[in-house]
Amino acid sequence: MEHRTDALAEAERLMTVCNSCRYCEGLCAVFPAMEERRSFADADLEYLANLCHNCGACYHDCQFSPPHEFNVNVPLVLAQVRNDSYGHHAWPRALQPMFRRNGFKIAVATALTVTLFLLGMFAINGPDLVFSAHLSPENFYALMPHNVMVALFGTAFLFMCVAIVMSARSFWIATEGRDPDYPTGPIDIAGAGHDAATLRYLGGGGEGCMNADEAPDDDRKLWHHLTFYGFLLCFAATSVATLYHYLLGREAPYPWWDLPVVLGTLGGLGLVAGPVGLLRAKLRRLPDLTDRTRHDMDFAFISMLFATGLTGLLLVALRQTPAMGVLLALHLGVVMALFLTMPYSKFVHGVYRAMALVRHRREQRRHTAG
Ligand code: SF4
Ligand code: SF4
Repeated sequence: MEHRTDALAEAERLMTVCNSCRYCEGLCAVFPAMEERRSFADADLEYLANLCHNCGACYHDCQFSPPHEFNVNVPLVLAQVRNDSYGHHAWPRALQPMFRRNGFKIAVATALTVTLFLLGMFAINGPDLVFSAHLSPENFYALMPHNVMVALFGTAFLFMCVAIVMSARSFWIATEGRDPDYPTGPIDIAGAGHDAATLRYLGGGGEGCMNADEAPDDDRKLWHHLTFYGFLLCFAATSVATLYHYLLGREAPYPWWDLPVVLGTLGGLGLVAGPVGLLRAKLRRLPDLTDRTRHDMDFAFISMLFATGLTGLLLVALRQTPAMGVLLALHLGVVMALFLTMPYSKFVHGVYRAMALVRHRREQRRHTAG
């Protein structure tokens, strides 16, 4: 079968070998999904690749992994296919090259937005106000009016949502494989939500994630949970603050015990601790298991989350000092870059994986029904 890339062709070869062997079928969702098919088109391979959590278990369990001549390395090849799928489905097409040299481009975008926010804040307010705004009752809004903040971040957020929805739509249409007898239903979505929220398939068949020393552990699951739930808590903090502002007429800054600050602080701590752990785990991983040509993409997204958490925490901790103005510009610049680059970053792995898990749940339902 013709394939779009060398990685897809290699993935087809490996899935054909694995389909004859089937030793790993209890390890994760990939192998049962593979067993449902006899041939592997590009869309099938993208679906399988996004089901894979790169736990490494099938590499360590495989009697055909290198140096065997069969050279079976499922985690690596599926990682390559998965990483290629992000760029292939990105919307708009003109921005698909963002996934090439992704780390460099995200760094440039972040440097630009942070510089613009810093320069803008000094140019519009002047240094005196920037360094004394913490004394003003309006605090943050003395430097940037609430309506300006909403207009800027609302526009960026809207763009991010549209780009992610369009990219997800492309992935779903390409890989969903309609089944008129078993259309996707709420039970599939709920089941996939559970699998994603618990990182069920990062468990390597129950023992944990394989790392450099081949001793399974759950380190990556822990750090990923801290990062993911930290992100959700920060999002919840912003949502609650928006409701306070528009429904209750209560303007920021809020006292330390109020819900937006509590949620934001807990979320920020998760966004600092989780990414540090993920970076450490990534550096310790056996190089054979990871697509090293795309490490910059992984590091860029993890660093963006870390920078968002750190600048947010510093802003809360030092908001009653003269550093508040500069920290506000830094935090807003980082968050703006995060919003704008999210559809072109590792963030999309969560979206595509969730959709692959939905399809897998549906396939399993059909399989069980016979
Ligand atoms: S990874 Fe190796 S052991 Fe596992 S199913 Fe494939 S060929 Fe068999
Ligand atoms: S690396 Fe883990 S999740 Fe990926 S195919 Fe192998 S066992 Fe499954």
